[in-house]
Amino acid sequence: SADYDVTRDRLEVLESAVGHLDLAMRNAFTLLLNRRNAELDTLTSAYNRRHFEETIAQELIRHERCRGDMSLLLVDIDHFKSINDTYGHQIGDTVLREIVNLLHSRLRSVDYLARYGGEEFVIILPHTTRNDALQLAERLRKTVAGHAFCSGSLQITATISVGVSTCGEDLRLSSQELFHNADMAMYQAKHLGRNQVFCADG
Ligand code: GH3
Ligand code: MG
Ligand code: MG
Repeated sequence: SADYDVTRDRLEVLESAVGHLDLAMRNAFTLLLNRRNAELDTLTSAYNRRHFEETIAQELIRHERCRGDMSLLLVDIDHFKSINDTYGHQIGDTVLREIVNLLHSRLRSVDYLARYGGEEFVIILPHTTRNDALQLAERLRKTVAGHAFCSGSLQITATISVGVSTCGEDLRLSSQELFHNADMAMYQAKHLGRNQVFCADG
């Protein structure tokens, strides 16, 4: 009958609309997923260097507006090449992933961690004084040094060297300067024998 056809037409329109909506939602989801993946390091799932560059720039703008202190940590795994050479690259990868988990477990939710490169990580600590950053860095160092990285029956130990830099209340630093200071401090920590924390100027 005519009534039946009208109902069937409506049903077809509805089905087609739902189909389009379904596709649109899938596309939106894929877009978000791609965008998120472009921000992350594939090995460790930490943020990648590109995302760090964007984030530090934004944090410094916020820092200028809100004042207060902001600190940066640069973390480098000690003698990581020899971990690779001794146990193989795959176990090296596992150690990298586990160190990221360890660091994350010690950070506050407002802190930000990214893999800067190979075995180097950078941590942004908003509203954190030099002294608090130093204490946190020391906790991170102890956590890693006290951890047994297990792979099968192997028990592997690793240590990190950490450079700390701080952008104080009335100090204006560019992200390059802030990073450079942390980098220099990290090299001092290496120079002093590794498994150390060193603070830029002071
Ligand atoms: P130092 O204490 O001076 O930092 O010594 P190091 O051996 O850690 O430093 P070096 O720069 O000589 O070596 C870094 C090593 O990190 C070499 C490189 O193969 C390794 N590496 C970088 N990225 C990865 C990765 O994604 N996976 C693995 N397994 N190794 C990596
Ligand atoms: Mg390095
Ligand atoms: Mg290293």
